[in-house]
Amino acid sequence: MSIEVKNVTKIYGKQKALDNVSFSIEPGSIVGFLGPNGAGKSTMMKIITCFIPQTTGDVKVCGFDVINNPIDVKKQVGYLPEHNPLYLDMYVKEYLDFIGGVHKIGNRKARVKEMIDIVGLGIEQNKKIGALSKGYRQRVGLAQAMIHDPKVLILDEPTTGLDPNQLEEIRGLIKNIGKEKTIMLSTHIMQEVEAICDKTIIINQGKIVANDKTQDLGQQQKSNLVLMVEFDKDANSNHLKNIVGVIRVKKHKDKTWAFEVENDKVRNNIFQYAMENDLVVLTIQKETQNLEAIFKKLTT
Ligand code: ADP
Ligand code: MG
Repeated sequence: MSIEVKNVTKIYGKQKALDNVSFSIEPGSIVGFLGPNGAGKSTMMKIITCFIPQTTGDVKVCGFDVINNPIDVKKQVGYLPEHNPLYLDMYVKEYLDFIGGVHKIGNRKARVKEMIDIVGLGIEQNKKIGALSKGYRQRVGLAQAMIHDPKVLILDEPTTGLDPNQLEEIRGLIKNIGKEKTIMLSTHIMQEVEAICDKTIIINQGKIVANDKTQDLGQQQKSNLVLMVEFDKDANSNHLKNIVGVIRVKKHKDKTWAFEVENDKVRNNIFQYAMENDLVVLTIQKETQNLEAIFKKLTT
């Protein structure tokens, strides 16, 4: 496992920021760590990257324990903190060279050049960091996090504050990097995990409330399939209830009914019923529970 978190609790003074959190992350995946503000995302990430210690529980990165082997852990992880603290007075190359020095990287000049290529800083490479746009500063942050070629990347809200173009560029970059590395990224934006993450772990008030493949999250939380059916005129709910395969039926509005059904084939029975009762089906559609709805359900 790239990351193994077991029964981790973190207490700040009187406040429990993480409450018995456990999860693991396999190598080579992009995992979204999704949760509202204050859920404990940054706290978890600071523990994984050895910036703060947990109160209780165990955390391992590539098999190394964060408390007992922090130096080994730091070799395996790259970290982009939430507010991306950069030295605004330094030049891009100068800064990356400095970070390379901190990691005692050999052949620093070549590595800095390579990083500039990987994150697409080419045209901005001779500027001071303070002169860069937020999108390019995030690229510097990513280069900084990857310069020592770690196996695992921890990115804390890497796209917050970017405009739509920058957002798309940084997401593309993260996806690309994810082909070679394990990435855990935090976000409070549902669309973000849908756009880039293979797996999603949802955290709320310090507790893990979901952990699944992003595409399966909807399935898992869904109770029964719901078909929204609009007829051309009003219908009798007692009759609709008796259609074979219908579990429940509820008027949604006017002439639209929400049918909770056993499976997708029940739509044929609904058509049949309509035909026999002089009703016309104007529209029929599956109600999909998107990630946003699931997120709301799990975190409120
Ligand atoms: P997130 O990153 O999901 O927004 P955080 O991990 O930053 O959440 O915070 C989780 C909870 O812990 C919040 O309620 C926050 O106020 C609290 N917290 C975070 N850091 C500290 C700290 N250094 N001292 C006290 N409370 C903290
Ligand atoms: Mg945070």
